[in-house]
Amino acid sequence: MAIRIGIMGYGNIGKGIETALADYPDMELAVVFTRRNPADVKIHTSGVPVVSAGEAEKWKDKVDVLVLAGGSATDLPEQTPAYASLFNVIDTFDTHAHISEHFAKVDEVAKNHGKTAMISVGWDPGLFSLARLFGHVILPDGKDYTFWGRGVSQGHSDAIRRVPGVKDGKQYTCPVESALEAVRNGENPVLTTRDMHTRECYVVAEKGADRGTIENTIKTMPNYFADYDTTVHFISEEELKEKHSGLAHGGFVFRSGRTGVHKEHDHVMEYRLKLDSNPEFTTHVVLAYARALYRFAKEGKKGCFTVFDVPPAYLSSLSGEELRAHLL
Ligand code: NAP
Repeated sequence: MAIRIGIMGYGNIGKGIETALADYPDMELAVVFTRRNPADVKIHTSGVPVVSAGEAEKWKDKVDVLVLAGGSATDLPEQTPAYASLFNVIDTFDTHAHISEHFAKVDEVAKNHGKTAMISVGWDPGLFSLARLFGHVILPDGKDYTFWGRGVSQGHSDAIRRVPGVKDGKQYTCPVESALEAVRNGENPVLTTRDMHTRECYVVAEKGADRGTIENTIKTMPNYFADYDTTVHFISEEELKEKHSGLAHGGFVFRSGRTGVHKEHDHVMEYRLKLDSNPEFTTHVVLAYARALYRFAKEGKKGCFTVFDVPPAYLSSLSGEELRAHLL
């Protein structure tokens, strides 16, 4: 029987899961939950109901894995622990500084209710976390570097839009090519925040707003822009829509280190992702891990897990024998 997937929240990640399911024939979409009026949320899959989030409990025996597809800022810290009392759950929580806290909450609820949960699945956190772990254990005497971009940062775009006089805006995080090359060449550079990334802002100003003030407010904003070389481009609303509505992203994880009796040999490990669609790629990662989560649940594992806890073979629908024959 196919693994029955539920989706909680129909934004970019929710839509991405629905589309990605076509590539996972051992899974099927059972239901989409939303906090909005279900009649206003149109999905693509025929025959699958869109149901109010308030009715979710009625579905607890009809869903094997519920994907929490809300935002990391305010939705997931509430939703993942709440629904872990009813379902096996998986989320993409990406506020790195609060992962431990989020894990503890979800773990407690899942254990108390006999459920299996997995948090912070995606590419970062997710695949990049695995790349960092491999780097650390394989080259203990080394340094690691993570570069992001070029891609849109939702948090920084939101910060721009909160600046008085700004009607709309998008922010791209861009790796500094010279820093990237120095790391790739094994030079082990010491890099500050400013050395690694630049920030490019595309801003639609309100009519009559002072552009100089807007630019200065953005460039001096603490935590978000003050520590970076930031450029601000003023463009029209049409241009923003036409040229800056894409969801491409990606990045690099490096570990460089030395081995040998006299530490005479240099090694560089590089893991790269170049993504045309951040949510589509992320949701493929989520579904592979949902398969592992389902297997964990079948084996009676309870509580919360992360990508670190999943043996790679659990991600695949191939048998151990097939994996050994074709991928080892
Ligand atoms: P989003 O599009 O803003 O959707 C978040 C929620 O907004 C939806 O679940 C939806 O819930 C609600 N919503 C309200 N009004 C909406 C409307 N008109 N259209 C669409 N949704 C609406 O966020 P997202 O791009 O899916 O990203 C979700 C989170 O995934 C992000 O916060 C990010 O932290 C995380 N993420 C993680 C990774 C990773 O690598 N780990 C990668 C990418 C993203 P309702 O249907 O209930 O209203």
